[in-house]
Amino acid sequence: MENPLLSVGLNVPFDRISAEHVEPAITELIRRSEAALDAIESAPRTYDSTLGALERATEQLELSMSIVEHLESVATTPALRDAYNAVLPNVSAFWSSIALRDGLYRALAELAGTPEAQSLEPTKKRLLDKTLADFRRQGAELPAADKEKLKDLDRELSVVTTKFSQNVLDATNAFELVIEDEARLAGLPESARAMAREAAEAKGKAGYRFTLQAPSVTAVLTYADDAALRQAIWTAFNARGTEAAFDNRPLIGKLLGLRRARARLLGFKDFADLVTDDRMAKDGRSAQTFITDLTEKSVAAFEREKQELADFASSLGAKLPLSPWDVGYYVEKLRKARFELDEEELRAYFPAERALQGAFEVAERLYGVKIEKLQGVPVWDPSVTSHEIKDESGARLGLFHVDLYPRENKRGGAWMHGLLAAVPPTPNLAVFCCNSSPPSGGKPSLLLHRDVETLFHEFGHLLHHCLSRVSVRSLAGTRVAQDFVELPSQIMENWCSEREALGLFAAHYETGAPLPEALLQRLHAVRTFRAASMQMRQLGFAAVDLALHIDYSEERDGDVIAYGNSVLQRYAASELPHDYGMLAGFLHLFSHPVGYAAGYYSYKWAEVLDADAFGRFKREGIFNESVGRAFRDSILSQGDARDPMDLFISFMGRKPDPQALLVRQGLAA
Ligand SMILES: [Zn+2]
Repeated sequence: MENPLLSVGLNVPFDRISAEHVEPAITELIRRSEAALDAIESAPRTYDSTLGALERATEQLELSMSIVEHLESVATTPALRDAYNAVLPNVSAFWSSIALRDGLYRALAELAGTPEAQSLEPTKKRLLDKTLADFRRQGAELPAADKEKLKDLDRELSVVTTKFSQNVLDATNAFELVIEDEARLAGLPESARAMAREAAEAKGKAGYRFTLQAPSVTAVLTYADDAALRQAIWTAFNARGTEAAFDNRPLIGKLLGLRRARARLLGFKDFADLVTDDRMAKDGRSAQTFITDLTEKSVAAFEREKQELADFASSLGAKLPLSPWDVGYYVEKLRKARFELDEEELRAYFPAERALQGAFEVAERLYGVKIEKLQGVPVWDPSVTSHEIKDESGARLGLFHVDLYPRENKRGGAWMHGLLAAVPPTPNLAVFCCNSSPPSGGKPSLLLHRDVETLFHEFGHLLHHCLSRVSVRSLAGTRVAQDFVELPSQIMENWCSEREALGLFAAHYETGAPLPEALLQRLHAVRTFRAASMQMRQLGFAAVDLALHIDYSEERDGDVIAYGNSVLQRYAASELPHDYGMLAGFLHLFSHPVGYAAGYYSYKWAEVLDADAFGRFKREGIFNESVGRAFRDSILSQGDARDPMDLFISFMGRKPDPQALLVRQGLAA
């Protein structure tokens, strides 16, 4: 019988793919990819038979594997999960083996020396340069003994990072706080009580069970009147990874040492320089300077906000100075007192399907594309809809599927997954998934404003993927530097708060009335509420990340947790306890050999790019067609075809300026 995963293309027969196809197809596709790589080593040194062939060698494997991954996340079954887990190690091993093929690296290096390579068109030339640099960063030029050392370091990094995340997971799951006396829950909204009641019932217990899962922690720290309850949860949350059974503290120093050794072996000063080498920041110091600069510009407002909160809390009878577990609680009280913004009231204006149509319409106006619904396309669930994006000439740019509502066989969250990054004229293929509360009792799914922003954000990633017109697949769409990839997504969020854009889709689900001006005003005011404090929190994570990966030396600085805490304290809204253990649970930095390590700054970096680029829309018109086309031509269609800084400059005419972010946050001097 024919295995649909072996030859899948743009029209994926989602309804005909099942668990039993996975192992045979992926095993066969790895075999074919390996044979294709072998063939390159002895082929003539032309672009087409080396780099071109390398592009083609893994294409089918990548596509089939993303489809398996996708189905595992939206239509999983125990059999599909088993099949996925069974192939995953082989697929990862295959990917990491590519750069270590001596013959392949030699073929590419020899290609670089040919006259053909000197006259390649710029995108292909860039692919060649980037591929060689990638291979070198993975050790391709090291002598054999150092290659072995690198493999050992990688093995150890993967063992230690896996242990780190398991410890966090185990520590999270090992904790519970069961409260039987309902009086202690004062302040908690009904939804949080119901969640705690259900969590207790699920364990066969009476009362209310609080855990260290994010929704439980946030609810307690934001709403619980009982300071002792807040303290218990805050303390336990920040002690994850410090208890004897799950102690991550010794692992942090070890990880930093392994990363530094890896960077040095590859000829870099430190780990931050290694990972930023192919990013927009280019080196660790530039990322650090960027963070320091924003910190200096935020610190005065931060001090003011701290004082304001202390005064407010004290007027309510709080004891000063505030403890860390008091901050979120009094912030919420202050927010309520100042804005009376009822998120539930706002929800009525944001039915999910209208919001999605709104995102489509914004894209159509800005980028001159047309989005049409398709019928009769095979999908994985009857609720999924399919759409096509065409350009002004009617050419198909992309095909995408939308999966809006939660199901038991689907994972949580919202995401865009680019299944097929194609080279024109083939259209791109993507899926767009979220988990909005499903329509019920004749009421449509109604979104919180921040969920509307998330929807626009993910749709921005989808546009970046689908509008790509790059001539080589590996540089297409969202395959760009980590500190650039959030520009197309974050910029879309801006249209959720602009009157002119809201007029296209925000309407009361019963009356059809537009969003009242008063609500819009409050929505705008809330956006800058405590902006400096929120900014400092993010800057603190970025600063400690870079300090650990650039500056920290065990001999000079001693205990790594104490060192990290002294950095974090400068950014904290209150005095941190001396045994503060946040770093021991910091998964972004330590749960993966690379992950967001020396990369946390990217979040703020991308915010600057988006605020700055949106400034041009603000000045020239948020639906100004020529600005929209310029953004499409300079950014959305370009993938990684050129250096991201050049792309930004081609849109803005200059380098990014952090001032735009400060203005948007109300923090500009
Ligand atoms: Zn994103």
